[in-house]
This record gives sequence, structure tokens and C-alpha cells, in this order.
Amino acid sequence: MKLKEIGEFGFIDRFSPSFQELLTKNLTGIGDDCAILPMNDQEDLLVTTDLLMEDVHFLRSAITPGQLGYKSVAVNLSDIASMGGTPIGTFLSIAIPPDMDVEYLDELMAGYHAISQKYQVPLLGGDTTKSVKHLAINVCVLGKIEKGKARLRSMAQAGDAICVSGPLGDSAGGLKVVLNDLAQVDDYSYLVERHHLPEPRIAEGNLLKEFGGVHAMMDISDGIASDLKHILKASGKAARVKLDQLPVSDELKRVCQSQGWKVDELASGGGEDYELLFTVAADRVEALQKAFTNQFGKSFTVIGQIEAGEPQIHWSRNGNAVEFSKGGFNHFG
Ligand SMILES: [Mg+2]
Repeated sequence: MKLKEIGEFGFIDRFSPSFQELLTKNLTGIGDDCAILPMNDQEDLLVTTDLLMEDVHFLRSAITPGQLGYKSVAVNLSDIASMGGTPIGTFLSIAIPPDMDVEYLDELMAGYHAISQKYQVPLLGGDTTKSVKHLAINVCVLGKIEKGKARLRSMAQAGDAICVSGPLGDSAGGLKVVLNDLAQVDDYSYLVERHHLPEPRIAEGNLLKEFGGVHAMMDISDGIASDLKHILKASGKAARVKLDQLPVSDELKRVCQSQGWKVDELASGGGEDYELLFTVAADRVEALQKAFTNQFGKSFTVIGQIEAGEPQIHWSRNGNAVEFSKGGFNHFG
């Protein structure tokens, strides 16, 4: 059997149960955005790690080294944000092809430093090694959160509103601009920047974890069609999502219109926006929206509802049920 037959999650499912039985009390392991370990009487420790592989996650010709350094930290901080946590420090392990310019690496680390300074997260250690051909960057981030406050994927409740913290699809649009070699001007350059310089929603995650009625939370790394399913599986719930309610930037709308790209496919299926996906008790949405808008000067968007049922997403567009198949979203039957 080849890996491509079962996929990344199929691989994880093959070994993760055997490690589950090694978990002692108070440890949360594989299956959420971060692992959770008890740190002291007041706080839990959060740990997350992510690997960026050249030609798989990035093209050296498309992203500047500074952007790559920034992004490699941002995607990890986003996992801390998705639990409601605060980052403490990072570790960097990097495999470097021997012909690489030192100037390239200096720029990479300048980007790494810029985001570290922005969020006041020190680099605490790591490892460097030679690679035969490709650049590989692994970042591990430690974070902290008040005991019992972490928002898990398993916490969604029937009746919750499903919400996202910001626009969807920009990053996927930016990736299409890069892959189709389109000129990076105006709206196009905006989308590419969203792809190369994602911003972890740490302050948003902190507000959300403090707010009563916010239940499940995760960050959007693979696209909501895939990420929301993780919440549904972990919570044992179903969801209704309105495609016409997905928040989309004006930049993405204009580029989709002129390129003939399907905007709701990018918004629902496109990854790497690193916005937060969360569920909130319906009677708390209004108060939360007020607090959120006060603090951030922008609103979050309600895109659907959690329901009892098998863990699957029921999509609709303008009140009509649609299903997602190979050619995109289609009417049922
Ligand atoms: Mg995540």
C-alpha cells in the first residue's frame, strides 16, 4: 500500500492509538492544534511543531527568505493562538543544502527575528544539519494558558454558531497567482502577501478563550471544508454552512472575477489563511461581536451552525442545498 492511498491522516490513525495508552492523566496528545501538559498549579504548557519543506510547502524562487523565516514562525504561533494561548519561546531545526548563500540564511533569520520581536517570543534553541538538496525548516513553539482554559476541537455543542475571525481564500488565491506566474501587482500582490506573510491571531484567541460561550476553536490551515470536519469528528456533531456567508475580501472577489476562478471554492477549500475557526453559543454571539469589534475594529463572521448528527458538513448556497464533488459545488440530484 502506498501512502497516497491513505493520506496524511490515514497514516497518523495507524499509530496514534498505540500512543494514546501511554498518556498519563492530565496530558492531551495527538489530535488537536497543540499538546497540553500541566506546567504548575495555575497554568498549562502548550506545545506545537510544524515542518516546512522546500518544493512541498514553499518554492524558493517564489518566496523571499525573509518572508519564509516570518511564515515558519507564524504558522506555529497560529496553533498556540487557536487554543487561546500565549507563546513563550521557539525552537528551530533546519536542514540546509551545502550550496546555500549565507546571505540567504541571514535574511531568513531576519524574518524569523522580526516576528519573534513582534510577539516577544525568544528563540530558545534548535539544531542545524546538512541537507542533500532541499531546505527544510522545522519550528516548535511552547506556549502557556491558564489551567483548563484551552479551547479544544472537541468542545462544539449543538446549536453553536460557527464563526471565522477574518476573510477566507486570500492565501489560496495568492498561491494560484504564484503558480500561474501572474504579474504581482495591485490585488494580485495583496493576495500573494496574504499567502507569504500570514498573521497569527493571538490577541483574538486570547479574547475568545476569556469569553463565556466560546466552545471549540482551531486555526484554519487546510481550509474550512477540511478543518471544520476535525471539529465535527472530535465533537461528534454535524454542521450546516452557508457558502454565500463565507467572508471574502474585495481583492479576492475582483481577481476571481477577472481570472474566472470560483471564489467559494477558494474560500471553503483553500488553506493557509490562519484565521480562527470557532463555535459560540447562539445567545452569546451578539455580546461577543460587540467585544470583538471594540477590541479589533473588525467583526467576525457567522458562517453556519453546529447540529446533532453524523460528523459531516451540509453546505448551502442562497438557501439551496449544494454538495461538493470533483467539479466543485453542485446542486443535489
Ligand atoms: Mg492548527
